[in-house]
Amino acid sequence: MLIFRKPIEGVERPQMPADVVIVGGGPAGMACALRLAQMIDAHNAAHPNSQLSKENIYVLEKAREIGQHCLSGALLDPRSMLELLPDFEKEAPLDAKVTKEAVYFFTEKSKFKFPITPPFLRDHGNYVISLNRFVKWLGGKVEETGITIFTGFAGSELLFDGDRVTGVRTDDKGVDKEGHQKSNFEPGYDLNAKVVILAEGPCGSLTKRLIQKFDLAKNANPQTYGVGVKELWEVPAGRIAAGEVIYTLGWPLTTREYGGAWIYGSPGTGANDNIVSLGFVTGLDYADPRLDPQHVLQEFKRHPFVAKLLDGGKMIRYGAKSMPYGGWWAIPPVAGNGWMILGDSAGFLNSARLKGIHLAIKSGMLAAETAFEALRKDDSSAATLGEFQKRVESSWIKDELWKVRNLHQGFEHGMYAGMFHTGLQMITGGRGVRNRYPAKAGYEHMRKLADLPADGGAEAHLLGAAKGDGKLTFDKLTDLYHSGTKHEEDQPAHLVIHDTNLCNTKCVKEFGSPCQNFCPANVYEMVDDASQPNGKRISLNPSNCVHCKTCDIADPYQIITWVPPEGGGGPNYDGM
Ligand SMILES: Cc1cc2nc3c(=O)[nH]c(=O)nc-3n(C[C@H](O)[C@H](O)[C@H](O)COP(=O)(O)OP(=O)(O)OC[C@H]3O[C@@H](n4cnc5c(N)ncnc54)[C@H](O)[C@@H]3O)c2cc1C
Ligand code: SF4
Repeated sequence: MLIFRKPIEGVERPQMPADVVIVGGGPAGMACALRLAQMIDAHNAAHPNSQLSKENIYVLEKAREIGQHCLSGALLDPRSMLELLPDFEKEAPLDAKVTKEAVYFFTEKSKFKFPITPPFLRDHGNYVISLNRFVKWLGGKVEETGITIFTGFAGSELLFDGDRVTGVRTDDKGVDKEGHQKSNFEPGYDLNAKVVILAEGPCGSLTKRLIQKFDLAKNANPQTYGVGVKELWEVPAGRIAAGEVIYTLGWPLTTREYGGAWIYGSPGTGANDNIVSLGFVTGLDYADPRLDPQHVLQEFKRHPFVAKLLDGGKMIRYGAKSMPYGGWWAIPPVAGNGWMILGDSAGFLNSARLKGIHLAIKSGMLAAETAFEALRKDDSSAATLGEFQKRVESSWIKDELWKVRNLHQGFEHGMYAGMFHTGLQMITGGRGVRNRYPAKAGYEHMRKLADLPADGGAEAHLLGAAKGDGKLTFDKLTDLYHSGTKHEEDQPAHLVIHDTNLCNTKCVKEFGSPCQNFCPANVYEMVDDASQPNGKRISLNPSNCVHCKTCDIADPYQIITWVPPEGGGGPNYDGM
């Protein structure tokens, strides 16, 4: 029987008072901590008689090391960093300044270059970075200020008092597969905080619970997502310049799926090579449950243009992560009594530009300014923290996202409709045919096998597991090996399936168990079991999980909840 992870009941937990707890040490969380420290330092210098302390401000990060779970493209728009640390370009790990961009439309064997780069994909002035290295550096800056970052600690529950968030419980350590305490058991801490800031990235587990508890999304469009599957390659010098940026649309997707690819060039580690970051983002609103986003990336690499670029090269890292696509109308209220939500957890991502880092950082800064006021006044009520909402709405975050507020919804009926709406939106400041386009949650687009062609039709080349040739293309387990993923094996499953019976009786027949396909890390398997009505039973390999959250998002019955595993476990996205 599968046992799922949940906090152990009936144990005494260490209590720790805190001023501010930031859950998640990605760009949003780190920028928030750094800006808060800057403001407290400036306040203390100006007010020797009313000092504020940084001692009880904590960042919780589930990865064993700072940045280890951070995966992105990544191109950095420097706008918010120039506000946070005006001299950051002198010392941050920036791989290359963008020198050249191109956008292509791919058919199976050919390509068409867009005669002009659409304005939202113009990247001159941006930097190619590894988000993992960048966040490590930013985390170092936070630690220099005296703020404590607890790595290897996940926020596993929010603490409430009525309608107020009063703190965060960290994960229990040393619990075995059956849910029993091991000899090294350590209960999670209760951090009782004045202000709780959620910066967990896309589909945050605490954020999801907060949104559900207070029904925060009731007036927002449903959040929609894409999953980006990425590989890092070392290629012979001369294939791509450091700072060269390529975007592609079209093949291997058909006109019915939403998504596209990126290829970014960085300097290599040796004189004779370059690093290529390439990946494919597949919108998690496709119809065919047999579609496999890792397979989509493998097919993309078989395109003659990409195959030539990678020929003679070596794949060195792999990973996957989701991103929120829903835009401005899908953002829930971002502040309330004792809490704020930042970055991808709130949905601050510009899907037209495939960029969210600069918005995550800016939202972190605005939350820090709000938290600072709360500490100064010793008041973290909804009225004080609600200022964060107003700060966001009068900042350039809103200006940027407002212009693309209907972008993704315009593609709900396929590529041709999407292109029509995008054109119209560009000339109407983001409006298009109406101010607010509605949206359906991505999983609602998934269709039952009985309604789809048995041979897969136009999508046949994207369905099921990729086999891989071992050189240019890889099967999932080979790719996964390059993600450096490790977890404590003896712990309850952190993929909580609320009704496994439904998997074994209904989903297997109706949808053919899509979890086996959409998970980029082979976590879900249907194994033979003669005692089951369809001869199959769901089985999990949670240790493979790369924390992309796709299962939580794409499951058509919405019965999977991703919760953090024991802190420290997960991928190792060195250089990603
Ligand atoms: C494939 C892909 C390509 C992208 N390309 C670009 C690009 O080129 N340029 C760009 O600007 N943006 C890009 N983005 C978007 C960008 O990466 C995000 O917008 C940005 O990283 C969001 O920052 P964040 O801090 O909100 O979340 P994240 O970067 O996701 O960081 C969240 C952190 O919180 C931690 N965490 C989560 N839950 C918990 C918990 N419960 N307890 C403790 N810790 C927790 C995670 O381990 C992680 O370290 C891309 C995204 C993807 C997926
Ligand atoms: S189990 Fe879920 S979160 Fe983990 S890798 Fe698979 S799809 Fe992603």
